[in-house]
Amino acid sequence: MNIWFTNPDEILKKTTLVSRFLEYVKIDTEANPESTSFPSTKSQLEFGRKLLADLKALGLSDATMDENGYVFARYPGRVKGPCVGLLAHMDTAPDFTGKDVRPQIHENYGGGILRLKNGVVLNPAEDRHLPQCVGHTLITTDGTTLLGADDKAGVAELFALVEFLNQHPDIPIPPLSIGFTPDEEIGRGADRFDINRFGADIAYTVDIQFPGEINIETFCADTATLTFTGIAIHPGNAKGKMVNALRYAAKILERLPENERPETTDEREGYYNPSHISGNGAQAKLVIFLRDFAKKGLKKRGDFIRKLVSDVLKGEPRLRIHLAIIPRYRNMANVLKKRPEIARKAEESVRRAGLTPVFRPIRGGTDGANLTAKGLPTINLFSGSVNAHGPTEWVSTKAMGYAVCTLLNLLQLWGSDRGQ
Ligand SMILES: [Zn+2]
Repeated sequence: MNIWFTNPDEILKKTTLVSRFLEYVKIDTEANPESTSFPSTKSQLEFGRKLLADLKALGLSDATMDENGYVFARYPGRVKGPCVGLLAHMDTAPDFTGKDVRPQIHENYGGGILRLKNGVVLNPAEDRHLPQCVGHTLITTDGTTLLGADDKAGVAELFALVEFLNQHPDIPIPPLSIGFTPDEEIGRGADRFDINRFGADIAYTVDIQFPGEINIETFCADTATLTFTGIAIHPGNAKGKMVNALRYAAKILERLPENERPETTDEREGYYNPSHISGNGAQAKLVIFLRDFAKKGLKKRGDFIRKLVSDVLKGEPRLRIHLAIIPRYRNMANVLKKRPEIARKAEESVRRAGLTPVFRPIRGGTDGANLTAKGLPTINLFSGSVNAHGPTEWVSTKAMGYAVCTLLNLLQLWGSDRGQ
């Protein structure tokens, strides 16, 4: 018989969820986008080895780590059902330092402003989730680093799930495959993911977002790289001869629409985001990220850049511009539409935990998007943490408990159709 889990405090009391989370966030696992090694930092391999030992300590004796740092483990099923994959990533974002994280515990949060070091402030007037957590225990940074709850909350929650399942052999779950992945934050988390070794039929990443949130949509993403070749000549006798590559790179930038930038768009609106410019008068390089939720919309954005290039060339035929548009990732919703039960069961599991399901598109890419494209349909479920990638990152311990309740419900829904 299914038992629906609605009480986060039961999880917090019976498992090492919070102490394990506090232990893991203190371990620096920052990803490095400049690195060409895999994983991008050695610290992730060290953390992987630790997670491997910790899984074995919980009785998952067949847990393994491959040479790329992926840690996988199987939990035997108790009833029939597809093998459900649960994933969390080990790395933290390079946007803000993750070294020497000193988590601060605020018990029984009273609803006021929390002041951290370096003038960092958590203000309930500006942070819509804070007022929802009055009375909770909050874990924040000390203001000098990110927290790394993204995604060590997810990692600790998967461990708490295993601990809880070990204590309750009567919970009817199908076979489960647990995975910890490197380099999600730099978009490489799915690159060397061995779907066959993982062995799941469907999967969920457990990564950031407030309790109740489910993400089944990501952007479609392309990268446009423009290389401008001008004509270099001494400025002293440049009249009528010089063609300055930088000026034309600037012309392209100037013509990108004002209202289609990351800073002027939200929800399902796409954008153009110049991410890099370098060079000199003779040659310049400009990189623009193209983002849209629809494939058609993304194609239009590529066409728009092509049109800008041809317009600029018309004005200066001596200039050369090489344009390359490289696909990055695609909105996973297109594939997941064919497997609606994956989202439906996630929604049901959230509701069974006593929470309100919220579907929101992710304005970025995820491991899930890439895994879905590789053949493992994967959506994202909340881990509870908010304000990722910076010093205002925080998480409520109750929110983490809710994430484990939701996973317990989810597994039971896959293990039995009686719950629907
Ligand atoms: Zn994350």
